[in-house]
Amino acid sequence: MKLSRLLVLFVAAVSFILAEPLAAQKGKGLHHRALLVDTHNDCLSGQTLAGRDLAASLKEGHSDYYRFKKGGVDVQFFSVFTGETARTSLGYYHDAIEEIDSLNRLVLRHPDKFNFATSYREVKRRAHRRRVVAMIGVEGGHMIESDLNKLDSLSARGMRYLTLTWNNSTEWATSARDESGAGAALLQKGLSEFGKNVVRRLNELGVIVDLSHVGEQTFYDALAVTTKPVLLTHSSVWSICPVFRNAKDEQLLALKKNGGVICVNFYPAFISKEFVAQQRYWSGAGKDSIFAIGSSSDTAKARGQWQAAMAAALDKARPGIGEVADHIDYIVNLIGIDHVGIGADFDGIGFVPRGLEDVSSYPRLTDELIRRGYSNSAIKKILGKNVLRVVKANCP
Ligand SMILES: [Zn+2]
Repeated sequence: MKLSRLLVLFVAAVSFILAEPLAAQKGKGLHHRALLVDTHNDCLSGQTLAGRDLAASLKEGHSDYYRFKKGGVDVQFFSVFTGETARTSLGYYHDAIEEIDSLNRLVLRHPDKFNFATSYREVKRRAHRRRVVAMIGVEGGHMIESDLNKLDSLSARGMRYLTLTWNNSTEWATSARDESGAGAALLQKGLSEFGKNVVRRLNELGVIVDLSHVGEQTFYDALAVTTKPVLLTHSSVWSICPVFRNAKDEQLLALKKNGGVICVNFYPAFISKEFVAQQRYWSGAGKDSIFAIGSSSDTAKARGQWQAAMAAALDKARPGIGEVADHIDYIVNLIGIDHVGIGADFDGIGFVPRGLEDVSSYPRLTDELIRRGYSNSAIKKILGKNVLRVVKANCP
């Protein structure tokens, strides 16, 4: 064999061996250079209310400062959330203030780790590799208690998006769950006059209108009123995984017209039809089959067996990174590269995709996007630039 031929073979072998690490290195470099903005994380209600310190290295949950930084997270919208039943008799608004106070406490005690931002300019000034820029999103219109003064007050305390509803409707906006549920026929769907005034006031205050969780009629009513681009802070694609919380194609096309952005939710039950099928099976026929063979005097044992079988089946059915990227691909193919972002919903979801286990794992999604042929500039848009455009248009 000629020396030159040997040399070619040698170079080919070396490049083959180096190819994978180089690609991974390139991904890591790009990922950490890009501004990563995640629009939805529930660690205030999931971790902080349980007494955990997000500035420490935590074993529990999906989020803490060190994992945020490992994941390359530059800007995190911290979700202020309370459910249909308020935590105390003082009500929803009080719950919201308590969570905002807990974020204040974190930022004031650890200025080297967390900074606040309430505008695009502040994000640009404070985004720093060593710090997490914290923004506030309030998840659920019920927290304004149908009072525009409370809306103003939450805005003054830093709220930069309001999700018009959570799963529960308010007096002025119907939710996706209620618009698609059993009592839907009797429902006055969409935004009331007061609801339209809420949207107008959000526009005036520079607070982004978030249309995750809202029913379709509320979605279109809000788009008809808003003069600013909106976000869906944590929703995925209905055509891939048809569940009530995901966005249909017509909604995505309307979102494009508005100039808004949909941020993909990682929750397996919004990503994978197969996962949803397993959930339905284990709360129906699968459950019945185990309780049928268990003796009626031993329901505790049957319950334990059912829970263990369900947990194992759901764990096995978890989608992977590729299936999350499929939602991004779908959105890009339908409405273009300028309207997709990331709103993982970490610490708000009971299951996570394989490979996207917590906030430290975002670089793996970037690797997957590189593998699928996305350009550097496209990846930067997905990771944060698109959302920042919406932030700029609402609160420059
Ligand atoms: Zn949610």
